[in-house]
Order: sequence, then C-alpha cells, then structure tokens
Amino acid sequence: MTHLVIVGGGLAAASAAETLREEGFDGDVTIVADEPHPPYQRPPLSKGYLQGEEGLDAVILHPVEWYGENDIALRTATAAISLDPAEHRLGLAGGETLTYDAVLLATGASPRRLPIAGANLPGVMTLRRLDDSNALAEQLRGGGKRLVLIGSGWIGLEVAASARELGNEVTVLERDPVPLSAALGTELGEIFGRMHREHGVDLRMSVNVERVVGEARADGVVVDGETVPADLVLVGVGAVPNTGLAEAAGLEVQNGILVGSNLRTSAPDVFAAGDVANAYHPVIQQHLRSEHWANALNAGPVAARSMLGQNAVFDHIPYFYTDQYDLGMELSGYPPLMSQAQLVIRGDLDTREFIAFWVDDERVVGGMNVNVWDVNETVQELIRSGKRVDAAALVDPSVPLETL
Ligand code: FAD
Repeated sequence: MTHLVIVGGGLAAASAAETLREEGFDGDVTIVADEPHPPYQRPPLSKGYLQGEEGLDAVILHPVEWYGENDIALRTATAAISLDPAEHRLGLAGGETLTYDAVLLATGASPRRLPIAGANLPGVMTLRRLDDSNALAEQLRGGGKRLVLIGSGWIGLEVAASARELGNEVTVLERDPVPLSAALGTELGEIFGRMHREHGVDLRMSVNVERVVGEARADGVVVDGETVPADLVLVGVGAVPNTGLAEAAGLEVQNGILVGSNLRTSAPDVFAAGDVANAYHPVIQQHLRSEHWANALNAGPVAARSMLGQNAVFDHIPYFYTDQYDLGMELSGYPPLMSQAQLVIRGDLDTREFIAFWVDDERVVGGMNVNVWDVNETVQELIRSGKRVDAAALVDPSVPLETL
C-alpha cells in the first residue's frame, strides 16, 4: 500500500491532506505534527481569537474526528527528527521510523529571536502558536496591562490593535522610521502608523532597543538609554523557516527549502509547501517564499497533486490580509516586482478607503484594497493579465476596474 506522509500541523499540511483524499487517493496518509493540537490556522491568533471574539472553531481546521473519518492517521505531539531520502524513511521523536513513498515537508516557520540581553526572561513572549495566543490572552483580556511590543510588522501591529481593544497600554518600539515600510513603502506604512497613534498606541520609531530588564521577570525595555516600563514584552521581529530537517537530510536550502513550481525539493519524493518553501514562480521566473495564509492554503493542494504524480504547478499570486481596528485590507502582488514599481492611488488615503496599485511599465504588479471590498479578485486578474493600463483610468473611481 502506498504511504504518503505529511510533516507539519498547519494549513499547508491540512490542505494537502484534504486534497489527497479529494483526488481519490486511497492509500495510507499520515500527518506528523509536533504541536499537541490538530492542524490549525494562525491568523485569528493575533485578532479575533486573541480578543475573545472567536472561539477555537475559528482556529482548528477540522475537528479531530474528521481525520478518522477520512482515514488519515494524525500523530500530534510528535516531531519528525530525521529524514533519509535515499531510504525513504522518516525518524520520529521517541524512536519510531516511518517509511514513505512520498513525504511533504510543511514545517512552517518560527519567530525570529532577538539577540539582546534579557530576551529570555519570563514575561518576554513571541506569538506563533495557539498556546502563545492563549498565554497572551490570559494577560491581556482583563485590560490595564502595559504591553511593550518590539517590532512593528504585521503581527506586532495586529496585537497592538487587539491589546488596545482590550483596554491595555501599548508601546511599540521599531528600528525603522515607518511601520511596515519594507512591505508597503513609507506612504502606505504611515497610514498604519497614524491609525495606531489615533488609537492611543505610543509608537516610537527609529529607536534602538538595547535590552530587556527585570529580576524574576521582564519589567522594562531599555531603548536608547531610557527604560520603558512593561508588564509584558512581545517580540515580533519576523520569522525564520523551519528548515532543520531538510538541511540535515542534505536538501537544497536557501531562504527556505528550494522547490520547483511543482513543489518538489532537490531530493526524490520529497516535497515542501507553505512558509518553509522557497518555490520557483513560473510567472516572475524567480524563487519566492511567502509567509501568508493564502500561500499555505493554495500550495498544500499543489504539493498533494505533485505527490500523486500529477502535473501540478504553483503559480499563485501572493495574497495577504489584515484586520486592525476598523481597517480591513487585502494585498495581492509580487513583492520583488512591487519594490521597483510606482504607487498609484484610487480613493482617499486620509479616510483610509482606497485601492493602491503598484504599476511597473504601465502594468499592475500589485494592488492593495483598504476598506474597499469585493475588488481583490479583479485586482488579481489585472495582475495576472499583465496588460497595459491607463494610469488616468486606474485612479478614476468612476471607471470600473473590470473595464481596464
Ligand atoms: P505553520 O502554520 O507554521 O505550520 C507548521 C507546523 O509544523 C507547526 O505546527 C510546527 O510546529 C510544525 N512542525 C515544524 N517542524 C516540525 C517537525 N519536525 N515535526 C513535526 N511538526 C513540525 N497570514 C495572512 O495572510 N494573514 C494574516 O492575517 C495572518 N495572520 C497571522 C497571525 C499570526 C499570529 C501568525 C503567527 C501568522 C499569521 N499569518 C497570516 C501567516 C500564516 O499564518 C502562515 O503563513 C501560515 O500559518 C503558514 O502555514 P504553514 O502550514 O506553512 O506553517
């Protein structure tokens, strides 16, 4: 009997397992996941779930019975610790070894650590796992805490918004002059900065975080010589792909596990998908590693089809969304092309209701809709088509996007 194994317990793993059964595969499927929970998705962990507005059902992808009903062996709280591609063997913590016909590495990413003194004190947290969100919620849900956030990336700002909504004091410490400027540029990053200040966040930009201080637990962060008092410190300075298993097995790894557009790695019958995979994108003809929900959702099924020997190609346009206070945003586009493009705005930046387009050589390579809905598919079609667009029509809200 053919045995397909999936390593990881996130969205890429779950969406791959679903697809294997949808495609009619009737051999053995095993998921090996090191967390104690059935596979789950992470976006609610910094938003509705953290705030207590959404329950576990918004996080867990399938109830645990679903795996039995679909004849999928779910091994939670079990880490894969070694991979032997030549022998088709996967070693598990505890000593057991699985043999496989094909294996998918969907091991995700882990929070980047801050190399400063005091970073390991109790009271200094990161947010990646359900258990992290539960621990953070326990501190923040009653309100009245002083939260110091190091980093003003997406997760940091989402937590800042959730913590403010829950009635906590929030200070954000950031090395760059403008939040999110690496992802959005300064003009759009400022919109997020202004919004957080309006909501009472003490946003301190261009600062140098020196160390975390405290006796038994963190009670402050020293920044440019000044101590900012804290009941809780959250470090949100990005994530690093979990490539340890792949590296030890001799797979090609460079900013993630290198895979082709069919999500095959450099080793036979080993595939990778989700945050951990740096996949060759056939449209922009370069490798792209995307740490977004939609990437995991769409790559899992492509990897599953490749594992079944089908001709599957991953050519997804990177897509990301965020919700902070009353701002909802969707962003689609190719970051390497957007970084060289010109920004064109349809709508009003001040009221935070607009679509921003990244235009390169008269072609749309990225688009972000803020508090404007049901347009992202059209934005994606514009990007996908690669057709030349008239900049005057692009900024004119009276011209329907579909007609461009
Ligand atoms: P993961 O979800 O990281 O899952 C990988 C799993 O594999 C983990 O459980 C890990 O512990 C496990 N694992 C690792 N190594 C092993 C091993 N050796 N053996 C067994 N198991 C192993 N994206 C958006 O687009 N929009 C958002 O609003 C958004 N919000 C987010 C909020 C938070 C708090 C976080 C953390 C992420 C957010 N993201 C968001 C990003 C999105 O959640 C990730 O892109 C997505 O989780 C990636 O899925 P994945 O399956 O590749 O990896």
